[in-house]
Formats: sequence, structure tokens, C-alpha cells
Amino acid sequence: MKKVKILLFLFLPALPLLIEGCKKNPDDPTPNIFSLEDDKALGLQVKNEIFSNPSEYPILDSTQYPQAYAYLRGIVQKILDGDKVFYKDEFAWETYIIEDDNVLNAFCTPGGYMFVYTGLIKYLEAEHELAGVMGHEIAHADRRHSTDAMTREYGLSVVISVALGNDPNTLATIASNLLSLKFSRTAESEADEYSVKYLCPTDYKADGAAGFFQKLIDSGQGNGSLEWFSTHPSPDNRVQNIEDQKNTLNCSGSGTFDADYQNFKTNLIP
Ligand SMILES: [Zn+2]
Repeated sequence: MKKVKILLFLFLPALPLLIEGCKKNPDDPTPNIFSLEDDKALGLQVKNEIFSNPSEYPILDSTQYPQAYAYLRGIVQKILDGDKVFYKDEFAWETYIIEDDNVLNAFCTPGGYMFVYTGLIKYLEAEHELAGVMGHEIAHADRRHSTDAMTREYGLSVVISVALGNDPNTLATIASNLLSLKFSRTAESEADEYSVKYLCPTDYKADGAAGFFQKLIDSGQGNGSLEWFSTHPSPDNRVQNIEDQKNTLNCSGSGTFDADYQNFKTNLIP
């Protein structure tokens, strides 16, 4: 028995690499103890929790708002078609709208389950801005920031236990706390940078996320008091960093699709 434990201990660090095989993200700075399957399982668990809690997360019914959903999912598809999202074929990339006009936020679970609040949608004024924010959220999933944050929050041994499927109770606890995990400033900057990378090959103006941040600053809401900042710490100079990234990559897309976006917002009104 002891021998088995020792072998297991030696084997564990190699486990994620073995599971992921060649699909390891080449520019991933740190190895991630979770496998891609864990990311998907965790994300699905969070999605199910969200759907089972309609008082806190009133999901807009896609059958009642088919045009709004088609539009939103079209934005995600365009970003995926840009072919820069590393796990575009592996993760779910499902998108849902949460009906709460008071929340300026969006989030994406590990494994690619994305939720966008009506408050954010109505606050923004152009499609490329929403695409930029969604690109930022996609990056948190694609760059696997949550599982990295969880490892820091809960410690490696807990995370290993969850990753091995030995501990469904802990998995449930982690899943329910996942949405309040705050990303590191490094992860935040990286998500901004990748938002530009993802939008760059599309016809979108690639600095859409900066449009959102600039709007927050202009309206005096860039001080961290909003819901957005409870999970997204604000790195300094993020607008400038996004513009720099767009210039460095020489992104030529100019589409903002303002009229389509206004139409989308109109479709959200019952
Ligand atoms: Zn973020």
C-alpha cells in the first residue's frame, strides 16, 4: 500500500501532461495540474449551479430571445473563427445572458461556459466593445486562469484530489466559490492582451475591451467600485496596454457595428 502511495506521488506531477499530451499550450508559463477534462467538468458544474439558482442568476430564455442569442453567439463564433483561441475545439464555448441590468459584468468558467449580464450589454454602445470584453473572458478560460487561481487559493494537495475525482464534495465547494475568485493582476493583463490577439484576425476593431474600460473611466466608475472589479482587479494603464498591443500586432480591423449593436439591445427588451 505504501509503495502504491509513493508511486502515485511520483506519478502525479506528470499526470496533466500525460492527459493533455501534445495539446499543452506552448506559451503557457506554468503547468496546470488540472486536465482539460477537469476544466470542462468544473465549468459544467458551475453552469449547472447557475441554472439551478434562477433567483441569483436569472438566465434569459434562449427560446424567447432567439435573435439576441443568435447575435451574441455570432460574436463568439467570429472570435473562434479568428483561430487564435487555443482550446477552441476542446472547450464548450456556450454563451448565456443573465438578466440583471444592475450588473456590469461577464464571466467565463473553466471549460468555456460564458455568461454576460444585460447590465453590461446595455452599458456598451458597439459590437466590438462587447467582443473585446468577451475576448477578455474567453482568455481567462483559454489561458486557464481559474484553475491556476484555485491552485493558489486551495493549495496543490486539495486541487490534486479534486483533479483525480476523489473528492466530489470539495469539487462542489470549489465550483460554488469559483465565481468569486479574483484573478491576479498578471492574469488580468494577459486577458487584455489576448482579447486583442483574438480580435486581431477578425474584422473587429481589436481594441474593443479598451472601449469598455475608457467608458468606465470617463463616467468616473474606473475606481474599482463596480461588480466587474470584484473579480477583475484593475491593472494600471490597461487602456494604453491594449492600444499598444493592437499597434504591435498591426491589427487592421475597423468594424464597430454600432447599428447592429443597437438593434441587438432593442431585441433584449421584452
Ligand atoms: Zn478579467
